[in-house]
Amino acid sequence: MSTNCVFCKIISGEIPGKIVYQDDLVVALQDINPQAPHHYLLMPRKHIATTLDLQGQDAEWLGHLYLVAGKLAKQEGFAEDGFRIVNNCNAAAGQTVWHIHFHLLGGRNLSWPPG
Ligand code: AMP
Ligand code: ZN
Repeated sequence: MSTNCVFCKIISGEIPGKIVYQDDLVVALQDINPQAPHHYLLMPRKHIATTLDLQGQDAEWLGHLYLVAGKLAKQEGFAEDGFRIVNNCNAAAGQTVWHIHFHLLGGRNLSWPPG
């Protein structure tokens, strides 16, 4: 837990957030500013700032998070049409919250290349 981290505060219940899935390792919540009809943020419970801070032991929750993302997409009914999982690492990629997270976007056609 990092005391100034908005996602740690949502995970601990200190501030409200729309959590749609949680287990011992990961949490998924609705993005407050959705960029698609379905936009979830999947993250580890433990505070890790960026992809560059990952260590070997993080492989367990990372793999698990990917499986949860696919299940959530199926459960919410946009898996077959297609979806995208995005991790923005550091400022030039658009990272604004320094608790690692993966955007799960679906429910519309997603253009490529990204902006
Ligand atoms: P990124 O720019 O990749 O770091 O993504 C951060 C995401 O967190 C953005 O899509 C924001 O809309 C979202 N966000 C910021 N604050 C909150 C919050 N309190 N609850 C839910 N999503 C949030
Ligand atoms: Zn955090």
